[in-house]
Amino acid sequence: MKSYTRLVPKPPASGINTGLSNLKASTCARVLGVPSKERAGTNCIAVPKLNPNLRKKIVTEDVGPFRVTGHRAAVDSLRRVFLHVKASDPELYEALGSAGMLCARLVRGSTSTWSNHSWGLAIDLTIDGKLDQRGDGMVQHGLLTLYKHFHREGWYWGAEFNIEDGMHFEVAEQTFLEWEREGLL
Ligand SMILES: [Zn+2]
Repeated sequence: MKSYTRLVPKPPASGINTGLSNLKASTCARVLGVPSKERAGTNCIAVPKLNPNLRKKIVTEDVGPFRVTGHRAAVDSLRRVFLHVKASDPELYEALGSAGMLCARLVRGSTSTWSNHSWGLAIDLTIDGKLDQRGDGMVQHGLLTLYKHFHREGWYWGAEFNIEDGMHFEVAEQTFLEWEREGLL
């Protein structure tokens, strides 16, 4: 068994997320609306309290290693990511778990910005049931492999955030705008 949870230093920002940027909450709000009339906090707002236009686009589906609840376009894209992981690294695929996709809440540490999880456009992953610790500058070894598959599908890796968030992947701004043009949102 390979040790996918062994910690390694996060790659330099110059080496990851090339051509992609962090999806702005303002872009999500422009296209999909504010997630809820409720005030955002640190816990997830209940799905029935989400903005009805957004709720229509939220699905719960199997993406391969597990089921997720998220924006339908992101869920379809995730399924493609995991097909590639399964084909190229089946052991890693078997070790994957989800720590949540849709969750209407604030960005951790912020008092005003909605997290991209609020629109179901980001996912937090576990490997062998373990979460990568946020902000320590280290990432689980298996995340490096996962990153390549997410990058190919136009997802942005949170390892590059100011506070490193290695378990977090989100639809990149460029991908989101492309999906908007294609009418997928
Ligand atoms: Zn996250």
